[in-house]
Amino acid sequence: MSLAEQLYKLQQVDLELQRKQQELNEVENQLSDDKPLVAAESKLASQKEQLEDARKKQKSSEWELEDLQEKVRQINNKLYVGTTTNPKELVNLEKEVKGLKSQIGPKEDVLLGLMSQVEEIEAKVKTTAEEIEQLKREWKQRQETLGQRKSEGETVLAKLRGDRNGLEQQIDSEALNTYERLRLTRGQAVVKVERGKCQGCHITVPTSQWQKAKAGDLIQCTSCSKILYLE
Ligand SMILES: [Zn+2]
Repeated sequence: MSLAEQLYKLQQVDLELQRKQQELNEVENQLSDDKPLVAAESKLASQKEQLEDARKKQKSSEWELEDLQEKVRQINNKLYVGTTTNPKELVNLEKEVKGLKSQIGPKEDVLLGLMSQVEEIEAKVKTTAEEIEQLKREWKQRQETLGQRKSEGETVLAKLRGDRNGLEQQIDSEALNTYERLRLTRGQAVVKVERGKCQGCHITVPTSQWQKAKAGDLIQCTSCSKILYLE
């Protein structure tokens, strides 16, 4: 096997390593991506706060209404038990009862509004909690599938790294250095020569050059510097 062919094979393994590594990274990203679940949990927390707030408002509205009704009851007692005989006082008490009673209706309306608000938020909390359960089930399932893909990917990568080490050991170290440098600076180190043209830059390779390359010398394209490989 010529040096160029060895390097070409090495490059193929490196490309495959790169692809598999990218796939593995993608799988690992997905494995750690719990954004939808985190978002749903924070939505639930804020809905629960809203619910607590609405329930407090409902409670204090109930107390206000009870106070009002208690006051009306007490005055009515005074009026009907007959302890008060002073006509002026009686008129005042009746006025007071009337005033208090007129507040009851609006306060009841407020309470009803608050009660339906509480019900609405309770329904939202329930829906979000169900969403979270669903997301958790999906998350668990996805973790299993992705976990499997991850371990498969790791096995493939380990095998490829083994292949690479085996190839590397057979290649001359100076040629390896050239290869690594070209990979870093040019992205690709070895290119085929097809129909007399360098497949890296599509310039026609001088006959003397490709003949040397074909004979097994390590020849770099004069135009793009990549190592020329002839099958
Ligand atoms: Zn070239």
